[in-house]
Order: sequence, then C-alpha cells, then structure tokens
Amino acid sequence: MKIDLQRMHYMPQELKPGVLYVSEEFGAAAHLCPCGCGAKIRTPLGPTDWTLEETDSGPTLWPSVGNWQQTCQSHYWIYEGEVIWSIEFTPGEIASGCRSEAERRRAYYHALHRQRGTIGRRFRRWVKRLFQA
Ligand SMILES: [Zn+2]
Repeated sequence: MKIDLQRMHYMPQELKPGVLYVSEEFGAAAHLCPCGCGAKIRTPLGPTDWTLEETDSGPTLWPSVGNWQQTCQSHYWIYEGEVIWSIEFTPGEIASGCRSEAERRRAYYHALHRQRGTIGRRFRRWVKRLFQA
C-alpha cells in the first residue's frame, strides 16, 4: 500500500486512507491504520518519539508502528511511502515486550524474510544501518 505525505497545520477530522498527515507545528503525525480497520493512529514526532524522513518516493517513519491498542494489532513500518508489514504477536508478547529492542529485532528479521524486490532490499539496508548506529 502506498502512503503519501501531507503537511497540515491542524489535523483534519476525517483522515483518508493512504495519507500520512504531518503537523510540524504540533510535532505530530496521524494516519488511518493501513489494515483497513479505520482506526486513527497518532504518532508524536520528536527525539524521543517517532522520526519522520521525507524521501522522493514518500515518507519514512521510525520506529515501526504497533497498534496494540486496536483490535487489529497491526504492526508495520512506513518506509519510503510503502507499508511494510511485520509479523503478528500474541497478546502476551505484546504485554511483555512492547517496543522492546528484542521485539524490534525479531520483527525486523521477519520483515526481512517477507520483503522482496527493490523496496525490500533498500529497507533491509536501512534497518541494518539503524541497528548498527
Ligand atoms: Zn488496523
């Protein structure tokens, strides 16, 4: 699924699927969960929150987005305007290891396994660089 970046001052009431809304003034981003469940996902931006990078092909958000509060439990990266899905976690794993380093690494290896093609190769290099830093 493609994700486009749209910069706004205020977040709109109605979010459209496939759009990452960013308000730099308020240091926040929002999007609809790409699984189609309709949940609004808010991700604060900042040094201790999410990082947004704008590329030619679309926005990149780091770290991954884990919608543990939603019934769908979706977990994915938004990378260069693409949604890259991670694996599903059991509720127990989510409770114990939410956003832990181990969880990220495990999700990373699963995502590596699942992604093919050019975007997959670029994604692998990008994540490798992040873990080495
Ligand atoms: Zn969802």
